[in-house]
Amino acid sequence: MVVEELLAAGAPVGAHWVADRQSGYQILRHGSERARSTILPRIAAGTCFFGIGMSEPDSGSDLAAVRSRARKTEDGWRISGSKVWTSGAHHAHYLIALVRTGGAEAQRHGGLTQFIIDTTQPGIDIRPIHNLYGGHDFNQISFDDCWVPDDMMIGQEGSGWDMVTGELAFERSGPDRFLTSFPLLRQVLGALTQDGSTRVLHEHLGHADHDQAERAFDHQEAAAIGRLLSHLMALRSMSTSIAGMLEQGAQPVVEAALVKDLGTAFEREVPERLRSLLPMEAMLGDEHGLSHHWGMTMLQSPSFTLRGGTREILRGMIARGLGLR
Ligand SMILES: Cc1cc2nc3c(=O)[nH]c(=O)nc-3n(C[C@H](O)[C@H](O)[C@H](O)COP(=O)(O)OP(=O)(O)OC[C@H]3O[C@@H](n4cnc5c(N)ncnc54)[C@H](O)[C@@H]3O)c2cc1C
Repeated sequence: MVVEELLAAGAPVGAHWVADRQSGYQILRHGSERARSTILPRIAAGTCFFGIGMSEPDSGSDLAAVRSRARKTEDGWRISGSKVWTSGAHHAHYLIALVRTGGAEAQRHGGLTQFIIDTTQPGIDIRPIHNLYGGHDFNQISFDDCWVPDDMMIGQEGSGWDMVTGELAFERSGPDRFLTSFPLLRQVLGALTQDGSTRVLHEHLGHADHDQAERAFDHQEAAAIGRLLSHLMALRSMSTSIAGMLEQGAQPVVEAALVKDLGTAFEREVPERLRSLLPMEAMLGDEHGLSHHWGMTMLQSPSFTLRGGTREILRGMIARGLGLR
């Protein structure tokens, strides 16, 4: 509920987001006693940030193809390789990374292990990748013989595939998978419905076209908005029901994929649908204005259906879960 309110208000949750949503749970369930006692209180205090070290330059959808490798040594493990698209790594204190620990004999899914990697140690290079609007959210990381102590392993050696699958259920079903465009929708609703006409919207935008401004907030617009809001309510019910399953220790992997697929399609639909509702263009400029907010959401929207697993991958999982393939 708290997270939902923060997202609905467009609060800046980015830095501690990954730790709150998934890394903390992962450590609580599968981390060593030392990892729990040293890291969890700092996550709870909002002072410890995490990044997700899954994707690699040649391994995004096909996570089982990761090539970063951990080599066993007397005092723990040494990690070499690289990760890409790692959101917030430049602020993160740790990454939970999926790496290969098995030899050539290990099965594709069997030779993988998750580790908690301290990003402040030597041998880690974190470089920015700039996004469509020039911002720095994600990164490419290289590891050159980085040290990880034995008790910073998540689960057991070779359990990485199960660990990462469980973690993705947390990543795919939460309110962040359907609320990204909500602050924009709320801003539009405020402008459209203030006095039951579009006049307020035009004033808000500084438009001089009074004839158009006096047009009533018609049935078509009301129906379009009602449709968006009813989709939102259905998504919210699905997401909270999965939160209940996760709370009971279940791994609702297919259900979470369903929420992410429908939820991120909704997130992309909102800025598109506004084209037929708003008498203006999405445009970057005044940072506090509706047009700028809309423009930023437009530029971000292609990423909604990529991050955390693409639409095609999710639909494949859902089809398999339904026995269709
Ligand atoms: C904003 C953003 C933030 C991200 N943050 C992180 C992060 O913090 N940590 C992290 O590890 N990763 C992160 N990612 C990476 C993200 O998880 C990957 O981009 C995603 O999993 C897709 O992998 P890829 O880019 O390698 O594309 P590919 O896997 O190369 O896919 C390319 C295209 O082929 C399609 N495709 C691939 N395989 C199949 C198949 N079997 N069947 C049908 N179609 C297929 C895909 O759907 C896609 O359209 C982030 C991505 C974005 C956009």
